[in-house]
Amino acid sequence: MNNTAITKSDHVRARQMLALADAAQLPAADRAWLESHLEACDSCRAFAQDAGDLVRALRSIPVAADRTLVAATQMRVRLRARELRQRDERLWLVGVSCVVVTLTAALTNLACWRGFTWLVERTHVSAATWPVAFVALFIVPALAASVLLLAKGTHLADHSR
Ligand SMILES: [Zn+2]
Repeated sequence: MNNTAITKSDHVRARQMLALADAAQLPAADRAWLESHLEACDSCRAFAQDAGDLVRALRSIPVAADRTLVAATQMRVRLRARELRQRDERLWLVGVSCVVVTLTAALTNLACWRGFTWLVERTHVSAATWPVAFVALFIVPALAASVLLLAKGTHLADHSR
């Protein structure tokens, strides 16, 4: 097993090859790459198995499938591949959002800490007043970023249907 060397685009490439072409018709270099990927990747091997089962089942139907059925099946396979890719992209966006929110909160925290230290020293306003404002200003930017990112996520989900 060599899972560390496999990237997401390798899975996409392997599944596109499996979905769009008969493996025997691929150029030799592509076929060799696909075979080595299938040896290393359980999920793509399962995908190839399912695709092979589907093709064998279709071929075992005594009445030849007409062109529209073949075209409709290929279209469904392509749509499914695209759905899986879009789901991966959304998961990636959620991960990035979490990192951005965490970084924003950490930076805001640091900036507020320094800012209020400076304010307490300079204005001589009671130090007990500042923690309330500090908490409000610490939380508000993180909440605003969360709402914006959620709105953006909802927007993407609505338009990908
Ligand atoms: Zn794979």
